[in-house]
Amino acid sequence: MSPSSLAGHHAKKRFGQNFLHDPGVIRRIISLIRPLPGQAIIEIGPGQGALTEALVAAAGSITAIELDQDLLPLLRGRFAPSELHLIAADVLTVDFAALANAFSSPLRIVGNLPYNISTPLLFHLLPIADRVADQTFMLQKEVVDRMVAAPGSKVYGRLSVMLQAHYRMEKLLQVPAGAFVPAPKVDSAIVGMWPLAKALRPSGDPQIFARLVTQAFSARRKMLRNTLAPYEGQIDLHAAGLLPTQRPEEVSVAQYLALADQLARCSYS
Ligand code: SAM
Repeated sequence: MSPSSLAGHHAKKRFGQNFLHDPGVIRRIISLIRPLPGQAIIEIGPGQGALTEALVAAAGSITAIELDQDLLPLLRGRFAPSELHLIAADVLTVDFAALANAFSSPLRIVGNLPYNISTPLLFHLLPIADRVADQTFMLQKEVVDRMVAAPGSKVYGRLSVMLQAHYRMEKLLQVPAGAFVPAPKVDSAIVGMWPLAKALRPSGDPQIFARLVTQAFSARRKMLRNTLAPYEGQIDLHAAGLLPTQRPEEVSVAQYLALADQLARCSYS
């Protein structure tokens, strides 16, 4: 029986189901995560249990969030309730702050993510960065490249700035399409994410920073004096070490943070 039809279950495209079936790749991923007993390990999208089995073997007990109702009996048959605490839900509706309250240690969130929800999920997890030890995700390689991109790179954009303002990130491993059943049309990669100390992250109202970055990248080829025109009189580009003729993709995360600080001071004065 092929892994894509384990216990009669067929991979569903709408749930982004590409199941890992390469034992070597699974071993590599687990050695990157290094799960240990007593840790608060949360797996997103356990699927048929390819990673779950190795996570449970190493940690003894984990929590997993799965949307596909058809996979629940399979997972319940494969793992004892003491090994797998299964949350049957759309991960985008899960209250991670409440989930973190159930554990005495910070969350270790892992998963071979459904690629169709990867960006909304990364944003859903931003507000609980304080409650997280680390995140290790399999994503589309192109998304990982955007996450870790440096200023000046063609793929440096809103996702890079928003995430780099909250996490140190590293592309850990590239995974070929053949490691999955069915094989996705895109290459994949594992990214590690470690929340930055609070003092290094956006201070005050996080919406100010988020709105500024969205506005800056609303037209990435335009100069800052045009793209940031709505903030005229509230921000001083020179004070942040910038020229009005520079483009949003040339601005470092630290400079975006400095501009957001200026805006925050404006709105409080
Ligand atoms: N972890 C398994 C593996 O590596 O073989 C499955 C990975 S598969 C790429 C993604 C998994 O996420 C599927 O099991 C899918 O049903 C589940 N999923 C898709 N959308 C989801 C959502 N919104 N919330 C929770 N799980 C979801």
